[in-house]
Amino acid sequence: MTHLSKRLLLFTAKLGYQTRSFEEAARKLGVRLVYVTDRCHQLEDPWGDQAVAVHFETPEAAAYTVMETLRGQDVAGILALGDRPAAAAAYAARSLGMLHNHPAAVEACRSKLRMREIFRDAELNVPWFRSLPITPTPEPSLLGLSYPCVLKPLSLSASQGVVRANNREEFLAAATRVRRLLQSPEILATREANLDHFLVEGYIPGREVAVEGLLTDGELRILAIFDKPDPLEGPYFEETIYVTPSRLPESTQHAIEKCARDAVRALGLSHGPIHAEFRINDNGVWALEVAPRPIGGLCARSLRFSFDAEAEPIGLEELLVRHALELPGWNSPRERTASGVMMIPVPKSGVLEAVSGEDAARSVPDITELTITARLHDAIAAWPEGSSYLGFLFARANTPERVEQALRDAHEKLAFKITPSLPVEHPATRRMTNQGN
Ligand code: ADP
Repeated sequence: MTHLSKRLLLFTAKLGYQTRSFEEAARKLGVRLVYVTDRCHQLEDPWGDQAVAVHFETPEAAAYTVMETLRGQDVAGILALGDRPAAAAAYAARSLGMLHNHPAAVEACRSKLRMREIFRDAELNVPWFRSLPITPTPEPSLLGLSYPCVLKPLSLSASQGVVRANNREEFLAAATRVRRLLQSPEILATREANLDHFLVEGYIPGREVAVEGLLTDGELRILAIFDKPDPLEGPYFEETIYVTPSRLPESTQHAIEKCARDAVRALGLSHGPIHAEFRINDNGVWALEVAPRPIGGLCARSLRFSFDAEAEPIGLEELLVRHALELPGWNSPRERTASGVMMIPVPKSGVLEAVSGEDAARSVPDITELTITARLHDAIAAWPEGSSYLGFLFARANTPERVEQALRDAHEKLAFKITPSLPVEHPATRRMTNQGN
């Protein structure tokens, strides 16, 4: 099967493990993968027809560049990884007349405030919420807040800057911390929108799940519900273990699926992958967030699909390529085995000096893979300032219980030596910051 004249556009701000999986899937299916990225300088063939250089902070301009560059060429599909590339992809798809999410729906997903307004208007379960400026530090007793509450940046991801506050003192400390993060040179350099405000909302108690889904012209298919067996009660919300299939009762899983459908309909998302987070408690299912993109980076390796009982299962990336190109197999079910991933938490900020126990962790039964992604001698930040994990552990077994145990056992074998980092002066702003903080 070859479709070499056909092009699949992959909008991405990151090049690495996941994009390599897309390259492999495209090669296997005989489709030409063309990157649309702001990382052209990192590609081996930056100015060939393998890549279109854009700036994701101006998604409409990025879409225009894509149109100009690919004029007259056959574009068969569009995929996006990450929140910023998703917006540019939506504008480009509009211009190319391809089935995709409407840009307004994708833009709505980029603002946590807008998403809360949309869920409220659609009468989904929503905590109270309001947006506040980062300066001057708001006086909570004048705002009529109730506790516990959660403070969060409007447009960051990976739980970066998300902090729970149980009283006025914690609120003030959290507001200062979120402000410092949003004013840091690293975050300002992203030119994200709305960095001068944060969202505060009621804390939703309960269990949390992540949902991976695939929309086809408005119809949502649930690919997997991941339990998050570690309690996520704050004050920070770094992820750890994801295990699928879910061990929640079937009725609860149906309620989650219904809430996912209601949430994507309310947002107006209609086509392509989604990744969403939900909390479940006595008052029902609460949509925390829906993103119009697949699960990030390496975690996708925890999902495989049985395209054909005889053949090796295919990965999420191949499933998405097939879906984008309307090739057979895009509706393959997830394999039967239980599967899980641990995003290896960062115990403290500092410089990663050494990692030990990797062989022992790999030899734990049911562990299929360990990848340390943090680089030795680099600064690494713990949450809430951080947003990258030390690495990823994967397991597969007959039951979700065994998967979870394998991940915990393997994690116990690992040791990370992290030393405090020295304060450094930022060359442009001259502000003193702690590396990795
Ligand atoms: P991000 O896009 O940065 O991941 P989210 O809004 O999804 O931000 O929040 C990250 C995590 O913080 C959630 O997965 C959840 O564990 C926790 N969290 C966020 N908002 C709330 C809330 N209102 N109540 C309880 N936990 C929350």
